[in-house]
Amino acid sequence: MTDVLIVGNGLAANTLAFQLYQQGLSFRWIGNSNLSNCSHAAAGIWNPMVFKRMTKSWLAELLIPELLHFYKAAETAMQARFITERPMLRSFKEKQEQTLWLKKAETEAALFLDKTIYTNGNEYLTNCWLNEPYSFVNQCGNLNVSAFINASNHFFKDCFSEATFQYNDLKLTLLGVHYQQHQAKRIVFCEGYLVKNNPYFNWIPLVPAKGELLTLQTDQLHLNTVIFNRNGFLFQTEKNTFKLGATYEWQQLNDLPSLEGQLELLNKLVAITSVEPIITQHQAGVRPSSKDRRPIMGVHPNHNSVFVFNGLGTKGVMLAPYFSKNFVFFIQSKAVLHPEVDVARFYHLYKPHL
Ligand SMILES: Cc1cc2nc3c(=O)[nH]c(=O)nc-3n(C[C@H](O)[C@H](O)[C@H](O)COP(=O)(O)OP(=O)(O)OC[C@H]3O[C@@H](n4cnc5c(N)ncnc54)[C@H](O)[C@@H]3O)c2cc1C
Repeated sequence: MTDVLIVGNGLAANTLAFQLYQQGLSFRWIGNSNLSNCSHAAAGIWNPMVFKRMTKSWLAELLIPELLHFYKAAETAMQARFITERPMLRSFKEKQEQTLWLKKAETEAALFLDKTIYTNGNEYLTNCWLNEPYSFVNQCGNLNVSAFINASNHFFKDCFSEATFQYNDLKLTLLGVHYQQHQAKRIVFCEGYLVKNNPYFNWIPLVPAKGELLTLQTDQLHLNTVIFNRNGFLFQTEKNTFKLGATYEWQQLNDLPSLEGQLELLNKLVAITSVEPIITQHQAGVRPSSKDRRPIMGVHPNHNSVFVFNGLGTKGVMLAPYFSKNFVFFIQSKAVLHPEVDVARFYHLYKPHL
């Protein structure tokens, strides 16, 4: 009997698998990679700021050291590269924004915000509009999420089965769970927004948000390692390749790239550069966002061997390492869950009819 049966094959399932491996727990793993494209569509940026309110992102000072430690350990174990640390350039439309930036740089976001406002063009950027003042957020970067998932699937190939989980085949036993030929002490569902199809957790109130991203190619633009943020983001992944994102849409919840999405993204591009790159890829996915913007994890209200690890929303790259650790300690009864992420906050929505 293994310690854990994992379901899913996105960022949540893959961070959980590596966390279990690091903590020495055994697991089997069932995932269909093609039911949700969210993790593969992600730009993978981590950013300690929320620009809309110019506030520090929730727990950024804890999450960022943990994510660096976690993904670097995974890179070493899996002998692959998937993280790049990058500064984020933020330009200011209004004087008011600069004043607020400088105030935050002295207070709650002192760890992250550059205290200088720059007014000259930047030597690392070629062919970008940069007429207004700007500054930098430090401790940002990006995870190549697909590269991480592919490396992790390969690393754990002996534990992983590529298949769609059949909920009807799950039997709860006194010792744990029984699924087809697998027996485990517990099962953890990591299905992203498709948790809506899970009879054990379909009452979880996600507010899924579709997002789209373009991969662009040109030899006329250079950003070095900078993430350019202006009503969206642009960064360079390889010599002539760039990622441009992202959109937010709450009605058409599917993985299909749309013309509206493409136009919205190209509008963001013209605010950054007059260069017209070739679009080499257009991706879409549905983010498993929650109402209160916190992850959703923990144990089923009625079944103590059935767990969920979900709700990573727009910030999965930052949240998953820290909270998969909290979660793995929790399932071993070595720690309690952070109260703001515990699925117990939604137990009142559960109607026990199973
Ligand atoms: C355009 C876009 C840009 C983004 N940019 C960023 C960013 O810059 N930074 C950031 O941190 N986050 C970003 N995100 C969000 C990030 O992608 C998510 O937080 C994260 O990927 C969610 O991972 P997940 O594993 O919970 O869900 P998913 O990626 O949806 O994974 C769920 C997995 O479970 C599988 N599955 C579902 N049901 C079953 C079943 N019954 N049987 C077997 N398998 C099943 C699915 O096929 C999938 O593999 C972005 C998202 C999008 C769409």
